[in-house]
Amino acid sequence: MAERRKWKWEEHAAELNEVERLKLKKDGLDVIQDIYRWAKSGYESIPEEDFVRLKWAGIYQQRPKDGHFMMRVRIPSGLLNSRQVRVLAELARDYGRGLIDVTTRQSVQYHWLRIEHIPDMFRRLEEVELHPYEACGDCPRNIVGNPLAGIDPHELIDTRPIVEELERTFLLNREFSNLPRKYKISVSSNVYNATNAQIHDLAFTPAVKEIDGKEAVGFHVWVGGGLSSRPHMAKQLDMFVLPEQVVEVAVGVTRLFRDYGYRKKRHRSRLKFLVADWGAEKFLEVLETYIGPYPSRGKDRLIGWNAGYFTGVHPQKQKGYFYVGLNVPMGRTSAEEFFRLADLVDEYGSGSLRTVNTQNLIIPDVPEERLDDLLAEPLLQRLSPYPKPFVGHAVSCTGIQFCNLALTETKALMRRVVEYLDEQVELDIPIRLHINGCPNSCGQQQIADIGLMGGKMKTSDGMIEAYTVSVGGHLGKGATFNTPLKGRVPADRVAPVLKELILFYKEHREPEEPFW
Ligand code: SF4
Repeated sequence: MAERRKWKWEEHAAELNEVERLKLKKDGLDVIQDIYRWAKSGYESIPEEDFVRLKWAGIYQQRPKDGHFMMRVRIPSGLLNSRQVRVLAELARDYGRGLIDVTTRQSVQYHWLRIEHIPDMFRRLEEVELHPYEACGDCPRNIVGNPLAGIDPHELIDTRPIVEELERTFLLNREFSNLPRKYKISVSSNVYNATNAQIHDLAFTPAVKEIDGKEAVGFHVWVGGGLSSRPHMAKQLDMFVLPEQVVEVAVGVTRLFRDYGYRKKRHRSRLKFLVADWGAEKFLEVLETYIGPYPSRGKDRLIGWNAGYFTGVHPQKQKGYFYVGLNVPMGRTSAEEFFRLADLVDEYGSGSLRTVNTQNLIIPDVPEERLDDLLAEPLLQRLSPYPKPFVGHAVSCTGIQFCNLALTETKALMRRVVEYLDEQVELDIPIRLHINGCPNSCGQQQIADIGLMGGKMKTSDGMIEAYTVSVGGHLGKGATFNTPLKGRVPADRVAPVLKELILFYKEHREPEEPFW
């Protein structure tokens, strides 16, 4: 086991929550080496307390707890090359019963893994510079970025080098492997807020400021956003950051969270609670003790919110080239589809595939003259660039099929609901539907036009799966989380209830009035 540094909160060890005490006993990252041993000695040999630490290796126990695991693989800014896509496909085929899920943080997830599979997966992922490490756990998770970085007509600068530098700085860095709770960073220079800045612990969004008589392009900084059962919108700090300063600021904010973040009550440990208590001004004052003073805020360049939807065919900033946004229904794809995607991006594009935080995919760099042939490929029938409106705007968490925290099923229900709505409702604008199988928020239901949160409901026939319906969430101007409606809807009534709700909106809306 690597030698561990002493942290200042160790003086109060008796007051720390149980997970904090486990982290003090052994750092989460130490579990990566242990896995090689357990792969030989078997599932039964894993000590109970190490199941918590497995998250630092990107692994959770799958439901039911019978020896199978889920693995999440980080994909910074959603950027993949075809070699990586093939390896992801091979691992799903060899170990994950062919399933690949795209997540709301641009990662991919496998299911059905056994502990003896994991070392080979680590090795094969590392060979193509992909990592499951710290994709889960109390550490900096996958860095979400503009999925169009470098090709985006609506970005001020290409953020790929910044995300790469952040990844190099944070990944497997033991200075940051024991944070109070999970920690999510986003970086984007897209003026339509492609990364949902307000729901991140730390976010960088496009801004400009006059410095020495010239307009400098850089970022504004947001801290303390997050969803889960108590969602908070991030607050903007009064500072302007140049591209080359992003890493310094991110390290400063992360050190501050590490040192001051709450560690007594686990449900109050996210950065959002510290920011809510301190306010943006005090937060900045303390941050300056880590990174020194920065210039005050410049001019915000966010001009709207695209909600992370890129389906269809769109011109890139490189003349004559297009990107094709593909819908992945409910974020679920397969080894077979990933193999084919790897071939398609080599054949039609530049060998690059991108994952999107709406659980979708993008094929970039397609020359205009190859578009028709790509669009005629059979795979694009299912992963369609032109999906029906409801299926094309649906997001679903993992749910009870694999998740130990779930109260309800999600992906199959969402599929039934959107197929029904696509048949029954005609509308001239898309309605975004998100579903979570519990009060956590992997499906980000609070930012949806219509969010569904799974729970249980007592009936004369016993407990059944039911959903709280919330309406009106968005991250555009006047960003707000959605508002829960009274009562819960049984699973088998969700589709007709949503139909009524949407038809009511259709009938009563003012011209141009959005759903939110
Ligand atoms: Fe599991 Fe709840 Fe997250 Fe869904 S939202 S994946 S049910 S923890």
